Amino acid sequence: MKSLNMKKILIICVIACLGMQSCTGVEEIDRSLQDQSMLAVLFAQTSPEYAANNIQTYKTATLNLDIALKDNNWTAALEQKGNFQEKPAAIILDVDETVLDNSAFQARAIINGTSYPTGWIEWGNEANAPAVAGVKEFLNYADSKGVSIFYVTNRVVELKEATKDNLIKLDLPFDQSINPLMMKGENGWGSDKTSRRELISKDYRIILMAGDQITDFISLDESTVSTQQRLELSNKYRDEWGTKWFMITNPMYGKWEGAIYNNIYPSSQEKAKELRFQALDPK
Ligand SMILES: [Mg+2]
Repeated sequence: MKSLNMKKILIICVIACLGMQSCTGVEEIDRSLQDQSMLAVLFAQTSPEYAANNIQTYKTATLNLDIALKDNNWTAALEQKGNFQEKPAAIILDVDETVLDNSAFQARAIINGTSYPTGWIEWGNEANAPAVAGVKEFLNYADSKGVSIFYVTNRVVELKEATKDNLIKLDLPFDQSINPLMMKGENGWGSDKTSRRELISKDYRIILMAGDQITDFISLDESTVSTQQRLELSNKYRDEWGTKWFMITNPMYGKWEGAIYNNIYPSSQEKAKELRFQALDPK
């Protein structure tokens, strides 16, 4: 009898506690999935290793820019066709994690236990992302050589003005006369950047490209394959890396993660964690 009363008291206490929690709005946030990104975000935010890697990438890009300018037969775009030798030179850069550093948004996602796109538009509209290390020097050099600079991004068109403001605020080259910022959803452009590269290649010789995703260089179709097939793409384009194509390391997010899930994002956090675990290779 005594233990039955104790049980009743315990149940009442638990119910009361739950009630208080919902009344005060203090609800348990499940951060377990986002927490798995913590070291990647801290690497981007705190390590000189990350910054130095980006500086060396853009320094190498600067050296290759000079070589490309002197060689009229040099093009960096698979989409470049026909006679391009006499066209003016241009370079194409992705924006997020290539020019603008959004690691603060990733930090917020971990702290709040939220996932993209929650908070993304708000972050973009703040127009306050810092520049990736080394990119400003590289872009200023390209600009000084008369090279046109295009920013081809999969940010939604709603963020066009804020993105432009952010780039200008950082004092990065932005030639208003050529509409240098090409967003997803603008002019019918989808996630695949191929059509935007094609369009630029009609008027320019694309001499160099930089990005943090393989889709910043090749088509979405070609890259939407298994993790093993994606790895093989790095070998397929071995000649381009470090000469015409420059990849910024992004350990925080990307289509590489989607490939872990067989390119179908799981509907639950638990399933995502399970598939990540299964993808580990202990040899
Ligand atoms: Mg990017």
